[in-house]
Amino acid sequence: MNTDTGSHIPTGPTARRPVQARQLSARVVSTAQVMPGVYLLWLWAPYITELCTPGQFVMVRCGGGLEPLLRRPLSIHRTASEEQIALLFSVVGRGTFLLSQQPEGGEVDLLGPLGNGFSLDSGSRRVLLIAGGMGIAPLVFLADEAARRGLEVVLLMGAATADCLYPGSLLPSSVTVVKATEDGSAGRRGQVTDVIDGPAGQADQVFACGPMSMYQAMIARESLRGRSVQVSLEVAMACGLGACYGCSIKTRKGLRQVCRDGPVFELEDLF
Ligand SMILES: Cc1cc2nc3c(=O)[nH]c(=O)nc-3n(C[C@H](O)[C@H](O)[C@H](O)COP(=O)(O)OP(=O)(O)OC[C@H]3O[C@@H](n4cnc5c(N)ncnc54)[C@H](O)[C@@H]3O)c2cc1C
Repeated sequence: MNTDTGSHIPTGPTARRPVQARQLSARVVSTAQVMPGVYLLWLWAPYITELCTPGQFVMVRCGGGLEPLLRRPLSIHRTASEEQIALLFSVVGRGTFLLSQQPEGGEVDLLGPLGNGFSLDSGSRRVLLIAGGMGIAPLVFLADEAARRGLEVVLLMGAATADCLYPGSLLPSSVTVVKATEDGSAGRRGQVTDVIDGPAGQADQVFACGPMSMYQAMIARESLRGRSVQVSLEVAMACGLGACYGCSIKTRKGLRQVCRDGPVFELEDLF
């Protein structure tokens, strides 16, 4: 299926981009467990690599047959050699379990790229990325792109324990990483939102991905008040194309579909 509707691609959390998604079969290049229960899957998908931007996602048929029936949404974690995309996912249920079992050389059915991703302003010099747990998944692609443009990138990473933190060795070497863990086993003890204030004051743009509770804590931070903060939402999603309205959310601007209007939104529009 090719649902191309045009070549003009608006960017950012408010502009709906025309759907350019294609259904395609992507060969599994490699698969590895990089944190407990978290897999990094590299797929051969040149069509998606060519078009995708940070913050976009794909809908993945996780099993070979009809089960699970619905595709699962997963962020594009990063791209490589203009032909491959990576997915980083936590095994939480049947779909992600089946995906974690895909053998190298196997084929995975994808629909993408989808959604409105992050928008990096051309005038930005310093950017702050805030990752809560698996929220790191879409932010690494953004860190790659910001580093490629020569921007200063500070990445705040929060997790329950040190072994649940994304491996620093997989990040661009120019990125400054600040860690926070709930048990204090790496970085500062506490939540990632506890370490926002200093870096936020120096950043031209702020981006985040994490659970809703993280966004609630962020909206209360003085250092983020009144400024643009782009956040990516992970909600239950059925079609990914704007057809079923299953991922609709209430925002200050009215009802929005996470799959087509998002998944990236302005933080202040959510509360
Ligand atoms: C745009 C978007 C991008 C996403 N990107 C990633 C990613 O890069 N990496 C990643 O690990 N996950 C990501 N998710 C979440 C991922 O889609 C779900 O974890 C996945 O669909 C679960 O499928 P399952 O069949 O394994 O679990 P299910 O059997 O469907 O559910 C198992 C458990 O997980 C919970 N769950 C299901 N869907 C979600 C969800 N969307 N968010 C939170 N909890 C959920 C269920 O409530 C249930 O408790 C993303 C979600 C969206 C909407």
